[in-house]
Amino acid sequence: KAQLVMVYHRLPYEEVIEGDHVVRRPPSSPNGIIPTLLSFFANGQKGSWVAWSVHDPREGRAFEVHTQVDAERYPNLVAARVALTKQDVDIFYKRFSKEAFWPTLHTFWERAVFREEDWQVFLKVNRLFAERTAAEAAEGALVWLHDYNLWMVPSFLRRLRPDLNIAFFHHTYFPSADVFNVLPWRREIIGSLLQCDYIGFHIPRQSENFVDVVRGVAPLEVLETRACAPRYQTYGCAVGIEAMTTAISVHGRRIGLGAHPVGLDLGRVEQVVKEPECQNLMDELRKQLRGVRVVLSVERLDYTKGILAKLLAFEALLDAHPELVGKVSLLTICVPAAKEMTVYETLLADIERAVGRINGRFSRVGWSPVQFFYRAFPFRELVPYYLMADVMWITPLRDGLNLVAKEYVATQGLCNGTGALVLSEFAGSAAELHGALLTNPHDPHDLRDTLYIGLTLGKAERQARLRELYATVRHNDIQRWGDEFLQAVEDSWRVAVDVP
Ligand code: UDP
Repeated sequence: KAQLVMVYHRLPYEEVIEGDHVVRRPPSSPNGIIPTLLSFFANGQKGSWVAWSVHDPREGRAFEVHTQVDAERYPNLVAARVALTKQDVDIFYKRFSKEAFWPTLHTFWERAVFREEDWQVFLKVNRLFAERTAAEAAEGALVWLHDYNLWMVPSFLRRLRPDLNIAFFHHTYFPSADVFNVLPWRREIIGSLLQCDYIGFHIPRQSENFVDVVRGVAPLEVLETRACAPRYQTYGCAVGIEAMTTAISVHGRRIGLGAHPVGLDLGRVEQVVKEPECQNLMDELRKQLRGVRVVLSVERLDYTKGILAKLLAFEALLDAHPELVGKVSLLTICVPAAKEMTVYETLLADIERAVGRINGRFSRVGWSPVQFFYRAFPFRELVPYYLMADVMWITPLRDGLNLVAKEYVATQGLCNGTGALVLSEFAGSAAELHGALLTNPHDPHDLRDTLYIGLTLGKAERQARLRELYATVRHNDIQRWGDEFLQAVEDSWRVAVDVP
């Protein structure tokens, strides 16, 4: 049985059904989390990776719960698959999580749609995950659960296995009690999370919001508070705070809390930067731009990302500073959202209208103010854009962290670049990235004016800021994130079970 059970909604590889066979592909997600989570099994530790796999018993295809992940690299790790029908996945993951939880977590609660019948499917799926996890885990094993899709697993799991050390990492924003309490199932969700032994968030503010929500649901005793590490900005940033709670007790159970912002795999970024193809692509882009300065924006199509506000602010910048017309272009890379969701269709239509209007107003022969790329770039093609961007403009209205900001810093830092990072103070990474020019994306004037500062900042200051940013991103990489999280889980467990 497994000493460490990773419960992540996705498998560490992609499954594609071809005829009667299931074919494996490397994960399409570009982030470095999956390799980092796998790295904890490289030492031969006995482990399980619990994730869903689409299966419909009516198809008659045999379903194997266990498969080897990679016999050579992780000899004792198995994937333990939870069989879900396509309908289960559509409701639990695509519909309910995205329509009820995603907006609420990102403080857009008025966009949330709450359906009791979807909650029932969510519960069923979480119960199946808990049952599979309980069957995999050795006595006293560590179970590491990931993200809000699995919010209800701790409560089912604790009933089945009181012996387990249950840790949870929350990958998205966690809002204040005023917003979270709108959720019809807030008591059940918080009751479940309180069955964990340790809960990690990206930044102290999110953890503190969680404590506030707990306070409204259950009798809470604060066991431990600490001043936030100097790593975090405490003032002058919307998501900064000066102290955080690191342990609470509810009904006699101790729950450790911590802030662990996800980092990057710098080695992977470095590898891409060094590829000759990267340099060639960058040279080509530079040639085509013919000296026009670049403001770059990269995000998924989502109302939380503030794309429309950014376009309007860029239009206002050109109105206020006509000297920039013909000299600066905004390149917007926007990754398409999952189809079938009308909210994204409306947003896309609004964005396209704004792009059309701005280009219609300001374009000149050979220059257009906004270049809108509505497609996903493979990471290696994204890097040349990071490298030649004079200003990286990241303006989410609310974001759990924002890895793009870190990727920009990493690529610029690796190549002694001199770019400026203008970052929303409502992104989790703003709490960590000292050296960024912070902006309030809810304030059109501030958005416009901070971008102008980014474009006009002297070289020496840009370099100094980038040095500071790069040192942070380099130090707090993805491996450190994983190592520190697991260390904190272990330390908290030792205190709880009173091991000296
Ligand atoms: N990304 C990509 N291709 C694109 C645009 C984005 O591979 O065309 C990647 C980007 O490198 C980053 C991730 O998508 O790793 C976005 O992560 P972030 O934390 O910024 O935002 P999220 O989409 O998770 O909210």
